[in-house]
Amino acid sequence: MTFVIPPVPAVTIPVAGGNGQFPVRRIYCVGRNYAAHVREMGMDPAREAPFFFSKPTDAIVVACPESHAQIAYPPATEQFHFEIELVVAIGAAGRNIPVEQANSHIWGYAVGIDMTRRDLQIAARDKGRPWELGKSFDQSAPISALHPAAEVGHPVAGAIWLQVNGNDRQRSDLNKLIWSVPEIVANLSKFFELQPGDLIFTGTPEGIGPVRSGEVMRGGIAGLTDLEVRVA
Ligand code: MN
Repeated sequence: MTFVIPPVPAVTIPVAGGNGQFPVRRIYCVGRNYAAHVREMGMDPAREAPFFFSKPTDAIVVACPESHAQIAYPPATEQFHFEIELVVAIGAAGRNIPVEQANSHIWGYAVGIDMTRRDLQIAARDKGRPWELGKSFDQSAPISALHPAAEVGHPVAGAIWLQVNGNDRQRSDLNKLIWSVPEIVANLSKFFELQPGDLIFTGTPEGIGPVRSGEVMRGGIAGLTDLEVRVA
């Protein structure tokens, strides 16, 4: 086959403790999934059905502590915000997946940050426009190494936190998710046939805020590899 322009390289995430790589297919994200974060965004944390948005696959930046990853400060924003999140990696295809079977479709888990141009997201939200300008830009999905569920199980509780230059900014617990991971997988699979390689960012707790050039974000979730990334 002759490509008329260079083909895009595969986007992959390293598997913790080995040489394997997980190929990324699509990136889905859940909005408003911790009540305290819903309130800080000025919304009502009533338990509405989950809603989703997407990021492009090549928004991924591998940001394990040893990779010394950097992301550029993106254009067109004065409010470049972090959102620490548990990331689910799908390993088996499925649609209309029952909640009780959802975990069997999950290959593993990682720590990710849903980087957001907050000013553009809020402007889009308030005008009823799509969120892409605020959410789906280059390098907007730093992620740490992926841990197989076969090794770490399916976490339902445990610390989730983010620091900027060593200072706590977000700290909560996975047990505060409004929609559990199996509920998210089941709901998303009503709208899309999930495929191996799909990622789901499951929402952020309270404490979101801005980062500036030169600052270092470090985030973690109990039992998973920390994430570390510097804003160039
Ligand atoms: Mn988010």
